Amino acid sequence: MSVLIKNALILTQDKNRRKIKGDIYIDGNLIREVSENPIDVEADFKIDGRKKVVIPGLINTHTHIPMTLLRGYGDDMILEDWLQTRIWPVEAKLDRNAISAGTDLGLLEMILTGTTCFADMYFFEDVIGERAKKAGIRAFLGFSFLDFGTPEYKFDELFSRCESFVKRWRKDDLVTPTIAPHSTYTCSPETLEKCAEISEEYNLLIQTHCSETQHEVHDVWRKYKARPVEQFKRTGILNNRAILAHCGWITKGEVREIARAGASVSHNPVSNMKLATGGFMPLPELLKEGATVSLGTDGAASNNTLDMFESMKFAALLHKHHRWDPCVANAQEILDMATIEGAKALHIDNKVGSIEEGKIADLVIIDFDKPNLTPCFDPVSHVVYACRSRDVYATIVDGKVLMIDGKLFTLDKDRVIERANKEAERLTGEPLCSI
Ligand SMILES: [Zn+2]
Repeated sequence: MSVLIKNALILTQDKNRRKIKGDIYIDGNLIREVSENPIDVEADFKIDGRKKVVIPGLINTHTHIPMTLLRGYGDDMILEDWLQTRIWPVEAKLDRNAISAGTDLGLLEMILTGTTCFADMYFFEDVIGERAKKAGIRAFLGFSFLDFGTPEYKFDELFSRCESFVKRWRKDDLVTPTIAPHSTYTCSPETLEKCAEISEEYNLLIQTHCSETQHEVHDVWRKYKARPVEQFKRTGILNNRAILAHCGWITKGEVREIARAGASVSHNPVSNMKLATGGFMPLPELLKEGATVSLGTDGAASNNTLDMFESMKFAALLHKHHRWDPCVANAQEILDMATIEGAKALHIDNKVGSIEEGKIADLVIIDFDKPNLTPCFDPVSHVVYACRSRDVYATIVDGKVLMIDGKLFTLDKDRVIERANKEAERLTGEPLCSI
């Protein structure tokens, strides 16, 4: 497939953060040309870019995609109650049908809202890989480890199943296997050490939760006389392959440890605020130390969307408000977190995350001919503060147009929604609100 985008404003997100008014030519899965001068070639798709802004595809570095089925199933509850009475009992009943339906629903939402790549850690990741591939989206899938086993496998089976999972997907173009020890409070030091070994052996990224709540930090300290970051360091997890989700309760010393190790942090502002985790990921300090900080939504059970535009705005506002300083978390830094820094966290910044010749075409086109985007003095400001995900005009992944002007090419919206409703009802045993 070839795609030609004409006369758009392009936020390249390259090294110099150049903004170019011009054309983009995509051939196969690569960006062949980005130019201020007109590119005149034939293409399968010719997109009129006037009054439109092109940005690199948004990268969501922390989610649990099938949890879309539990969207709005347990709101306004304290974390422990929420987990014990709503989430865990339902998760214990998960099966391949529910996972498949929930994944498709999440993929549909992501494609419509401009996410081109996501990092997931959940169960039945083989199913998630199959659905992601079919939908045509880039996915980094974490095989989960929990000391009490998962809804899919008993603990004793996890290591061998993980290796089969890795072998199945390691050469795939769109789906990359990763390893996902859930956290320091659900994985023993031995489990963490073994995960670190597998990560080393297969060169796998590691996804995990780190210092999300104060309760977690106290718990881990009581058990191991170490805080979560120290526990990850002791067990070999804290290295440049690790993506630590949350880090809301880390110290300045831990910021330095994370930066020194080359690990990255996935910031999930909406989920943190909704669950009232109380801690604030120290964004200015992490950036000052040179750590990679990316952006995630977390699962739709605690967000309640997979909307990266919303997460960008929340991230910016959260830190400004917390620091009593409107200058922190500026629009450019936030857009970086959702694009090129996300690519860095996933070790694919040489391939995606910016719009440059030779890179893979993962792009999003935003329709700026909207009242909420008028007038426009600074498109970066608008992308972060004024855009709504409904302003996404087209989503392109791996050079393929997955959605344009609401038309989807890899998913049937009505079918996906109908199936998700059915599975949500079956899984929870509760009737849906009739609308
Ligand atoms: Zn999470």
